[in-house]
Amino acid sequence: MALIVQKFGGTSVKDRNRIFNVARIVANTRNAGNDVVVVVSAQGDTTDDLIAKAAEITSDPSHREMDMLLAAGEEISIALLAMALQEIGVSAVSLTGWQAGFVTDRSYSKARIKRLDTERVESELARNRVVVVAGFQGLNRSDDITTLGRGGSDTSAVALAAALHADRCQIYTDVEGVFTADPRKIPKATKLKEITFDEMLELASLGAQVLNNRSVELAKKYGVELEVLSSINPIPGTIVKEETKVSGLLITGVAKDDNVAVVSIKGVPDVPGMSFKVFSLLAQRNINVDIILQSSGTEGTKDLVFTVPLTDAESTVSVLEDHKSRFGDGEISVDKTCAKVSVVGAGMQSHPGVASTMFEALSGQNINIRMISTSEIKISVIIDKNDADRAVSAIHDAFIQ
Ligand code: ADP
Ligand code: ASP
Ligand code: MG
Repeated sequence: MALIVQKFGGTSVKDRNRIFNVARIVANTRNAGNDVVVVVSAQGDTTDDLIAKAAEITSDPSHREMDMLLAAGEEISIALLAMALQEIGVSAVSLTGWQAGFVTDRSYSKARIKRLDTERVESELARNRVVVVAGFQGLNRSDDITTLGRGGSDTSAVALAAALHADRCQIYTDVEGVFTADPRKIPKATKLKEITFDEMLELASLGAQVLNNRSVELAKKYGVELEVLSSINPIPGTIVKEETKVSGLLITGVAKDDNVAVVSIKGVPDVPGMSFKVFSLLAQRNINVDIILQSSGTEGTKDLVFTVPLTDAESTVSVLEDHKSRFGDGEISVDKTCAKVSVVGAGMQSHPGVASTMFEALSGQNINIRMISTSEIKISVIIDKNDADRAVSAIHDAFIQ
């Protein structure tokens, strides 16, 4: 008998029919003699709808209350799925994140899992029940509900698979696996049979929302092989693992991220310690800085330009404004009209010319590059948001036939 963790995203449980579809997948796995732990997300657009409801009340909701609100979405799903399983004759129990033992740090809305106490889940499994766990949520040390950030149910599933030493971790979603680009935007995108943790981590961090990046980080850390597959079309999906067979593809995927803002600080004194003063402020507030450019100093000052998530743009500017006297009182501005487009592929380590092919594709579309950043297995450019879809398509065409 194997232990299998199956995670179903929002579209996969969006209505009555989809819930029974999921219940049948779970029942088949169970009836084949396996123990099953199921993780579910909020139905359809529930999380977005709850965010909109909060916005009707206030433009600046308390982070604690926001997490309390959003956690409700997943709680609806677990109860409905447990009922559907019982309805088709499968013994099942629903558990919230905290009942399932998820202990997180304090940072509301992007909490990290600190510990997972699996006694309750294991005792329910021992009673021959399918355990249906609410994804995306946990409890902090003050016994307050926290959420793990958008797409966080993937992370809940991987954490459970790691802690329970599950034999398989299946991430069911609304596409048939991981593709060379978002298949909804790029119809020519092809499904990958397998992809390495490192490549998937880059793709997920660079905007391919099919897997949450922390879930891939965790999967790599604990060696949890993932299978990403469709909840509608029962065909093999994509395996995410440490090493893959050589695919012959120079590039594994192209990703786009719209959640980007470019922040500029002009006239920063050209003396030691200034970057530390700026970026430590952001680190203290848990704001993730990505690409950083610094102009060469002229007349004793320099300009700092960097990207942060668009969702953190307001808080970035407000904390910098509050402390700007520490780094020269220069002008602070934010540009919200950009997007990041990236190519990812382990193959680029041994093949020169990837950057040139990418830039040629952009040049062919007359798209201006504002910033560039590279790592061993990725190249990212910041461009105008309005050019981003055209850029992804041109770059995909240039690399993948
Ligand atoms: P779920 O609700 O199941 O968690 P998500 O909406 O979070 O699903 O993620 C699945 C979506 O990710 C797909 O519908 C697809 O549009 C998008 N996506 C973006 N990039 C990729 C990619 N490279 N491969 C597959 N899907 C992708
Ligand atoms: N419901 C949450 C979200 O929409 C978590 C998830 O779907 O994984 O982001
Ligand atoms: Mg998701």
